[in-house]
Order: sequence, then structure tokens, then C-alpha cells
Amino acid sequence: MGTGSSHHDGRTVEPAQWAPIDKSAADIARANLADFARVCREFSWAAERSQLAGLPGGGVNIAYEAVDRHLDDPTGSAPSLRWLPASGGCTTLGCTDLVSSSNRFANVLRSLGVRRGERMCTLLGRTPDLYISTLGAWKAGCVVSPLFSAFGPEPVRQRLALAEATTLVTTAAYYRRKVAPIRDSLPALRHVIVTDTEADLPAVVELPSAMTAAEPEFSIVRTGFEDPALLHFTSGTTGTPKGAMHVHGAIVAHRATARFALDLRAGDVFWCTADPGWVTGMSYGVIAPLSLGATVLSDEAEFDPQRWYDILTAERVSVWYTAPTALRMLMRHGDELPSGTDLSCLRFVASVGEPLNPEAVVWGERVLGRPVHDNWWQTETGAIMIANIAAAQVRPGSMGRPLPGVDSTVLRRGADGRAAVVHGTVTPAEVGEVGELALRAGWPSMCRGYLNEPGRYAKAFADGWYLTGDLARRDGDDYYWFVGRADDVIKSAGHLVGPFEVESALMAHPSVAEAGVIGTPDPVAGELVKAFVVLRPGYNPGESLRSELTAFGRRMLGAVAPKQIEFVDSLPHTRSGKVMRRLLKARELGLPEGDVSTLEAAR
Ligand code: ATP
Ligand code: MG
Repeated sequence: MGTGSSHHDGRTVEPAQWAPIDKSAADIARANLADFARVCREFSWAAERSQLAGLPGGGVNIAYEAVDRHLDDPTGSAPSLRWLPASGGCTTLGCTDLVSSSNRFANVLRSLGVRRGERMCTLLGRTPDLYISTLGAWKAGCVVSPLFSAFGPEPVRQRLALAEATTLVTTAAYYRRKVAPIRDSLPALRHVIVTDTEADLPAVVELPSAMTAAEPEFSIVRTGFEDPALLHFTSGTTGTPKGAMHVHGAIVAHRATARFALDLRAGDVFWCTADPGWVTGMSYGVIAPLSLGATVLSDEAEFDPQRWYDILTAERVSVWYTAPTALRMLMRHGDELPSGTDLSCLRFVASVGEPLNPEAVVWGERVLGRPVHDNWWQTETGAIMIANIAAAQVRPGSMGRPLPGVDSTVLRRGADGRAAVVHGTVTPAEVGEVGELALRAGWPSMCRGYLNEPGRYAKAFADGWYLTGDLARRDGDDYYWFVGRADDVIKSAGHLVGPFEVESALMAHPSVAEAGVIGTPDPVAGELVKAFVVLRPGYNPGESLRSELTAFGRRMLGAVAPKQIEFVDSLPHTRSGKVMRRLLKARELGLPEGDVSTLEAAR
């Protein structure tokens, strides 16, 4: 089997070729979770909850915890928003600016008659208006549902309709193109607020003049721990996006996990590259860093390697939270950083959203001077659950260990590949055995329901566990290893094949920039492993490279190596950047592509 893994009976052996990355004693001592074992033992969510400031007179409101609380805290470092417009330059909004602008926005909502509990969607690029309107809506007691601004008209319509939003904040240009033509089909939508002046549009409120007219003081609506604050749509990787509902009390988990998994602290310059239209960009691009007193960087522009290295350098970013797709794109440009790049302020790098290939972890160590720390969570969990932390060894290819307060396990699978539930009970898998990743219900940021789908939500729980739909295995030290989504795993000639492992093995070849692996039907083997491969610049997709890669795969993986390799120019991604294996499979089988709304973006 070479250095790869064997998968008989659903058991695997860890890939041996990636040495763990150790931390120096000094690095560990400096880290937020220097005493991981003790914190795990002593941790309680109740104690964590008592760290919140709380609204004067009682109640919890995310906006108050994010910004207002810092005004009364002379010892703490106040957060700020540092905005980098696509056109160049930068603007900084200090804590007092954020407080008064969000108060004004809350007053705008009140003057329109928008009431507590109503839903407000945002359809905005990464601009200060996005942050201000979100904070202001929470202050007014509204539920915010951020929509990714690159969505085309159809995904926007679907989500506005599902959310039954009464209010939308957007730009005049997005409104004209994506909303005006369908506004009649959205009876719940009473108010459209556009962020431009002189938009000259009928039936919209222009934000700049409304803000000027509004008072900078606002008495925050007394929301409670269990009051809804956010409606996040999932990425739609496996099907139609689900609407996950989150509460104000979730901030307890946002704060704790950002300290634990991102090593974040007051005074950090923090760059989360995810758009606030996705849960990562909201939990960690807005809520956690503001509430902890960090400077939040917000870059309006799209991905560009030179720009990103310039930002890391010029803004002296200390903590960087990004995604495997972005890292793979940076890796495509090789090990040579652009001249002038200086990453000496960069203390911690983390990644989420997709499996992080071990290659990318060690590339970080080699090229950025910091290993990339993978962590795992979902829209439903609201916050990071499993992570490689600053204070511990990084095992490349592993998503790390459960954070303090998180009770996770791997459950033995039944015939359908998901956790087996027998008479209402589940059974933990053994160390090394592949099973369904599950979390003991009850952490503060757990989603409280799927919008309009109570049955689907109820089905996600068994025996007190939330079943994640992901397959993983644990090693003897409680590090978790992602195998694949339950829907994506391949059964080939008696082997259980996780696409991630095959993709990671292929990515270790110098020619491979990205790979997507699926099973194709085969009368003898059940399924055959097929890989779609995107090459790095300078490599020719021909027969000789194909045979070389096939042999390379066989050496690395043995029996589970891909039998077929197809070269493609690009892989299909969700709007949040994830490889859509179900689409590769649908294309391969000539099936309809199902709900492709999440691919709508550029259309
Ligand atoms: P949908 O639920 O609509 O199909 P989605 O699951 O991609 O979409 P998200 O909630 O954005 O929507 O993504 C969570 C999923 O992303 C996880 O369940 C997991 O499959 C994957 N994921 C996230 N982080 C990691 C990670 N570090 N390693 C491996 N997979 C990850
Ligand atoms: Mg999901």
C-alpha cells in the first residue's frame, strides 16, 4: 500500500507521509489555549456566558456586545473596521463611528415602521454599509439574512422569498438588475433601502439622506439569549440551500471559539477573507473580532494574489482566516512570494470550508512561515467546533481536535452510510473507524431550526447528538480526520474511498493545482474512482502526464487510486468556493444538474 491508507471494513490507517508540525515551547506559552487540557476540563458555557457585558437593564444583543460595550470599557482595546475599497485607499471606522452609524440605521428602520422580529436581507458588497446596516438591524431587534452579492437574480429571489424579508438593503445597481424586475413577486418586501444618493428610483428609500436625518442615539431593543438574530443559508453543496436560524446568544460561542481556534485577541489586525454573506464571514468576519476588540479588515475587491500579499504586508495582518480554495490559488503561483512581501506580523493562519490538503498546510509553513491551521464547522453549528490550535502540534490532513465546550464523536454507520440509530440509540465508532461525525447538542451557537423545515431539522438529531452528515475518523489522540460528506464517499471493490484523500494525494504531484474525485458506476467494482484534474500553469494535459499521474496515484494510494483521470480547465465551485462533486457526478452521468442556483453568480 505504499504510504497511503487502507480502507478495509471501513477502517483506515493514517497517511504516514506528512510529519506533524510541532510548536516551540515559546509559541505554546504565548498562545490563547496554552493549557488546552486544563481549559477543556474546567470549561463551561455558563461561565463563558457570564463574560458577556449584557444590555444595561438585562438582555443580550449581538450589536451591543460587538461595539457598544467597548465604549464603557476604558481598559479594553476598542474594535474598528478598516475598509479597503476596490478602487484603492482605505477608510477606518472607529468604535464610536460604528456605534453612532448603527444607531442611526436602527432609527431609519424604526422610522419606516420595521418592528422587532422582522427579517432584513442585505445584498451588498463588502462595504461599510454592510457592517453598519447589520449592526443597526440587530439593535432594532430584526433578524439579519445576508445574501452574497454575487448571486444572480434567481438565487436572490429564492432567498428573499424564503426569508419573507420585509426589508432589503442593497445598492441601486443591484436593485435595478436583480430585484426591481421581481419585486412584484415578493409581497412581504415592504421596504427597499438603497445605499446610493440620487439613485432616482421609485419606491426605494435612499440611505444617505435617511441616515443624515436620523438621530445618532438609539435605545437597543431588549433581545434575549434565545431571540433570533441571523438567518444563514447553507452553501448548497449537496442540494437546495437550507435556512439555518441562529440566536443572539450564539455570540458566546463566536467569542470563545475565535479566542481558542483563531488565537484572536484584542488589538489583533484580523483578516477573514470570507464574505459576510456566508456564515464564516459573519461569525468571524464581523461578530467575533469586533466583540473581542480586534481591527477587522474588509477588502472590497475579489481575490488577486498580488493584492492579497500587499494587504497582508501593508496592513500588518496578525491573524488570517481563509479558505482552501484561496490557498490553492496562491499555491498555483509557486513558492516565490512577490517582492516586497513581509509577513513578519503574521502570527496565525487558519482555514475552513473544505478539506485542507496536507500539501497546503506544509506550504504555509514553508512559504508563509506559518503552518495553516485547518478547522471544521458548518452553517448549522454557527461556530468552529474542531480545530488545530496555536498551542498544539498541527497534523497535516487532520482538522484538529474538539474545542473546549464541544463534545464530539464519530458514530458507527448503518447500511445507508449514515450513523446507525437502533431503537433510538447510537454507538460510537472505534478509534480509526470511519463513521458519521456527531456533536452533543446544546452549544450556544447551534442553529435553532431550518426555516420552514422542522422535519428536516428534527431528523438531524438522534440520542442527544446532532448528526453532521460528514464522515470522519478519530486517531488515538482525538485528532479528527475528514473522510468526506456521507453523500460523496465512494464504494469501490469493497473499499471505502474518501474523495478528499485521493484529491490530496494527487495534489502532492507538482503538476496538480486542484482535483475533484467522484465514483462512477461499474458493474464489477460497484464504483470506480475518477479524478478531474486542473493542472498548474506550464503543464501539458497529454497521455504521458496522464500515465504519470495514474502511476503516481497508485504509488501513493494503492488499491483506491483513481482508475480514470480527466484533465479539465476548472472545477465547478459553489459561490462560497467549494468543489461541487455532485455536479461533476451529474455531468459524468449525463443527469440533470439539479439545483445549480448557487452557481448563478456571474450570469
Ligand atoms: P449544504 O449543506 O447546503 O450542502 P455545505 O454543507 O457546503 O452546503 P456549509 O455549511 O457552508 O454548507 O459547509 C459545511 C460543510 O463544509 C461541512 O459539513 C463539511 O462538509 C465542509 N467543511 C467545512 N470545513 C471543513 C474542513 N475543515 N474540512 C473538511 N470539510 C469541511
Ligand atoms: Mg451542509
